[in-house]
Amino acid sequence: MTSVALTIAGSDSGGGAGIQADLKTFQELGVFGTSALTAVTAQNTLGVHGVWPLGPEAVRAQMDAVFADFDVAAVKTGMLFSGDIIAEVAAGLAGAGHPVLVVDPVMIAKGGAHLLREEAVEAMREKILPLSTVITPNIPEAEVLAGMMIRSLEDMEEAGRRLIALGTQSVVVKGGHLEGEERACDLFMDGRGERIWLSAERIRTKDTHGTGCTFSAALTAFLVAGEPIGKSVVGAKRFIHAAISDGLGLGAGHGPTNHWA
Ligand code: PLP
Repeated sequence: MTSVALTIAGSDSGGGAGIQADLKTFQELGVFGTSALTAVTAQNTLGVHGVWPLGPEAVRAQMDAVFADFDVAAVKTGMLFSGDIIAEVAAGLAGAGHPVLVVDPVMIAKGGAHLLREEAVEAMREKILPLSTVITPNIPEAEVLAGMMIRSLEDMEEAGRRLIALGTQSVVVKGGHLEGEERACDLFMDGRGERIWLSAERIRTKDTHGTGCTFSAALTAFLVAGEPIGKSVVGAKRFIHAAISDGLGLGAGHGPTNHWA
């Protein structure tokens, strides 16, 4: 039977990130994608030109409609924008019996636009992290959530420990933003002491828009396929590395990665 995943995220009119990246990635990896939109963004490869959040009740209604009619194998969250939306998403997930949950704690777009209000960080920490199977922060997001600066691989480990102490079952700290590292090193950790370092050649390209969304969507799809979490992280890393290596050359700014397997 076809497996179903739900993404709760924002729309990127440019098609490289957000809901669009998630659904394309799910499709490529053989998972039927459903969606609950949190916000609409007017966006292209040059940046975010506007953000219009949906009311929390509209987000919840989409979730409830999907949960009522589909057997959802896993949920992924992306741009959640506000504390009100986060509270409703957390309640909706509890109502659905706490499904497998991949949290991409999206905060700020590469161009600087805020996709999570500052007031919502605490809600992300308190209401979403404890529900998550795995959370996938990049370095700036991990710094905000763990409340520390990250300057080294050791700091990444400490941030991972802190995030697990906040209640997530496991974490992937993505090291792509770490200054001074020759390779892109990501760290997977879980609460039982499993630890996997993933290292890949750093690809020099401007076409990296949507990499975080695509990585976490691929991770969700591998979990839906029944892969264990460590193997799913390795599969998602391979998927995003290939996606970045094989950019599409679209747009005049930071172009999208491709979403083809
Ligand atoms: N727009 C939306 C709706 C997103 O969810 C995200 C990423 O998570 C972005 C934009 C940011 O994409 P990037 O920072 O990769 O350009």
